[in-house]
Amino acid sequence: MNSIITRFPPSPTGYLHVGGARTALFNWLYARNKKGKFVLRIEDTDTVRSTQASVDAIFEAMQWLELDWDEGPFFQTQRFDLYREYLQKLLDSGDAYYCTCTPEEVDAMRQKAKAEGGKPKYDGRCRDRGLPKSDNAVIRFKSPLSGTTVVEDVIKGNIVFQNSEQDDFVICRSDGTPTYNFVVVVDDITMGINTIIRGDDHVMNTPKQILLYKALKASLPVFGHVPMVLGKDKTRLSKRHGAMSVTAYRDMGFLPDAFINYLVRLGWSHGDQEFFTREELVEKFNLESIGKSASVFDMDKLTALNADHIRAASVSELAPRLLPFLQAKGYDAVDDQYLKGVIETLHNRSKTLVEMAEGAHFYYREDVRPYDAKAAKKFFKPEMAKVLASLADQLETLEDMSEKKQEAVFKDLMEQTGLGFGKIAQPVRVALTGTTVSPGIFEMITALGKKRVVDRLKLAVEFIESMGS
Ligand code: GLU
Repeated sequence: MNSIITRFPPSPTGYLHVGGARTALFNWLYARNKKGKFVLRIEDTDTVRSTQASVDAIFEAMQWLELDWDEGPFFQTQRFDLYREYLQKLLDSGDAYYCTCTPEEVDAMRQKAKAEGGKPKYDGRCRDRGLPKSDNAVIRFKSPLSGTTVVEDVIKGNIVFQNSEQDDFVICRSDGTPTYNFVVVVDDITMGINTIIRGDDHVMNTPKQILLYKALKASLPVFGHVPMVLGKDKTRLSKRHGAMSVTAYRDMGFLPDAFINYLVRLGWSHGDQEFFTREELVEKFNLESIGKSASVFDMDKLTALNADHIRAASVSELAPRLLPFLQAKGYDAVDDQYLKGVIETLHNRSKTLVEMAEGAHFYYREDVRPYDAKAAKKFFKPEMAKVLASLADQLETLEDMSEKKQEAVFKDLMEQTGLGFGKIAQPVRVALTGTTVSPGIFEMITALGKKRVVDRLKLAVEFIESMGS
């Protein structure tokens, strides 16, 4: 086969949802794996439901997921001349015809067919009338009356459709606009698409499309229909199951690589491996290992996988990703060494970037006061003023702030005061963070840096003294 060309053709009638993103991902991965091309096409012929906001949302989501395309974006609304040309081809070859039956007449035919126990369909009344073009005429495809059309699905196996069940479907409405199945085929042929992976909600369209390919004497692409993504209650994934929009997961603090890792596992497997880097996915993805059964979207699994990706990511990768979350909290954060130090202490403790930004509060708040009332009451005992003051003095004179040196200072203090490590560490933690929850004391002191640590210890001393007076 020539080089693989796949496509993702969303209809811009809403945001990019989980199922759509998985389809995009499978096509992108397959193209990348085969060093082929990935085409983005916006199917915006439904001008009533299509919006620019949805187009923008789709681009934004694709960019977040880092699913780059080699050609496009193409917009179907800009391709009407091409569709007209292909309609004419089918009219010329006798594979399409004008039909002037009114909607009421077609409705009556459908009712009749149904009453006779058949499939509701158009009865072919205008098929051989050779009607000319006219104002209210639609164009219908002349579908074969007998035989079968087989969808050789790489995921589901062969699916056989009886042509006798197929009606002469409309390919161009009376207002001159071509219909969905027709434009998809014209696009896929003219864009050289040879592999089509899409949701199995499109299976019923595929025999119609295959018939069009044949009439246009074009070679068939490989088709694969991926089973649906379900919610935990095994019904089709919907808003009820949580956020549907892909960018909502970005805003919840998921990493794009974690998200695509989770998406790919909704239908594709490689032994029992769960964690994949993007590069590994590109290397290993194939069509043979896409499963036949529907998969279930599970927020807990996604979150656990995100934690694994955060842990595995380097601080320099995480820094620009965390930054917007810190800035959204109003912190004056920039991508610098300080931020990297902060992440160093938090990335093994955070399941999402939102959690990490929350955990970073004391690194970016200039003043950690007011202290958590319960913590202050419990740990800021009058006798701690001296201990914290002494710690501040000793740390201030340290030239080398390595964790080893910090430990030595703490040890010294423990010996002098007879207090255990925890008895000193907890008040220090409250002084430095305002709370009792934080990363390890020494790594936190390292990240905060000497000046902040000393200043905060001194403020705590003042606070304790003021309580006593
Ligand atoms: N525009 C269609 C959709 O968003 C996709 C059609 C296709 O993959 O052939 O569902």
